[in-house]
Amino acid sequence: MKANDCPKCGAPVDSQNTKKCSYCGVVFVVEKTSQLAGFDKSLIAKFKSMYAPSNDCGSAIEDVIGLAVCHMAIGNYSIAKSLLERTVVDHPLYCRAYYLLALSIIGNRKIKNLTLKEVKEVERLILVAVDLNEMPEYWMLLAIVRYQYYRCNGLRVPAPDEDHILSGVKMSDDDRAEVTELVTKFNINDPRFNRVKKKANL
Ligand SMILES: [Zn+2]
Repeated sequence: MKANDCPKCGAPVDSQNTKKCSYCGVVFVVEKTSQLAGFDKSLIAKFKSMYAPSNDCGSAIEDVIGLAVCHMAIGNYSIAKSLLERTVVDHPLYCRAYYLLALSIIGNRKIKNLTLKEVKEVERLILVAVDLNEMPEYWMLLAIVRYQYYRCNGLRVPAPDEDHILSGVKMSDDDRAEVTELVTKFNINDPRFNRVKKKANL
């Protein structure tokens, strides 16, 4: 990551604390799309250039993830997808890459309209991610896929179904933003999701 000045406020980056801006508090390491909420295109472009690979050395995993998240935030899902496909091969234990890859396959389409093959791949990736680390947003995405693809298309819902998944989701304050992002992105209005929406203060 190359940052001499904060991309948000322009303050010089504190050499003692390079992970976030000491002045405006913005976090430089981006691994969730919810972290870029409220950023305009020019600010996302500044973050994106911070993660761009340099010629002399290979990219660190945080930079590849940051770059992929920036691409997703501006709708470049196919670029994000190819970055993440390489990441899961190079860093097979990095759980968030699988979750982000699942999101990049869905892109800006409705889950209901994906092909069965795509849905199977999305589910496989989410299950690898939860196997590595049980983050609530991973479970939430699986519940959304079960509901919006199978239930809404009148298909048999594989186990565990969305009700079973939602009843087990545990959330801390730090997890709320990303779960909220998913509920908003996929336009979840079904009452069976209310329990999790309540936990996320939605
Ligand atoms: Zn700043």
